[in-house]
Amino acid sequence: MDGQATIGLIGGMSWESSAHYYRLINETVRARRGPTASARCLMWSFDFSEIEALQHAGRWGDLADRLADAGKALERGGADFLVLCTNTMHRLAGELQAAVDLPLLHIADPTGQAIVGAGLRKVGLLGTAFTMEHAFYRGRLEERFGLEVAVPGEADRALVHRVIYEELVAGMVRDESRQAYREVIARLVEDGAEGIILGCTEIMLLVGQADSPVPVFDTTTLHALAAVDRALA
Ligand code: GLU
Repeated sequence: MDGQATIGLIGGMSWESSAHYYRLINETVRARRGPTASARCLMWSFDFSEIEALQHAGRWGDLADRLADAGKALERGGADFLVLCTNTMHRLAGELQAAVDLPLLHIADPTGQAIVGAGLRKVGLLGTAFTMEHAFYRGRLEERFGLEVAVPGEADRALVHRVIYEELVAGMVRDESRQAYREVIARLVEDGAEGIILGCTEIMLLVGQADSPVPVFDTTTLHALAAVDRALA
């Protein structure tokens, strides 16, 4: 494989964030390998309208089948490992992993490592309702990295979720929503959060370090950089 593994990206969830993955991965390979170097990668990109309809209908079995098909297609195409470009769909990480022989680079792992590396223990998590309310994501951070993961209150969770599905995946970035997210972040910090996880791959389109009094951990960037580390290792 002459010095670079092939990254198999499962994206389109949404393409707004997948485009950032593609750019970040290529920019990082260029920075490390020289001006004409770029990443060796494949991307399976879903039609997100189908994915979000299945999510909101609770049809996770059908979603697992789709992820398995995408993973197998990337495996046949020559990918060396998989990168699932969404936090939410890591709810099905086990099902995806079981369908392929390729390793999956779990998005929570580079995130957990970065938080531990920064010396923090209690963090606030922003993401879709699926990510904030189910155990698959928080549980991994708590069990593997010894973190305490707090989520916003009910009304704030609904707001964070709504902005993701009604605005960010549709390419809309609104100042009112940025302000609302800043307030949610401030409430998490008031409750003791020492850092904030941008635990949905579109949230970095709306807020960043400038919107938070404590360090933010952007899962899109951390995951993309971990993919490059692995590809160039
Ligand atoms: N990209 C988002 C995430 O990281 C949400 C879209 C999806 O449901 O996959 O969770």
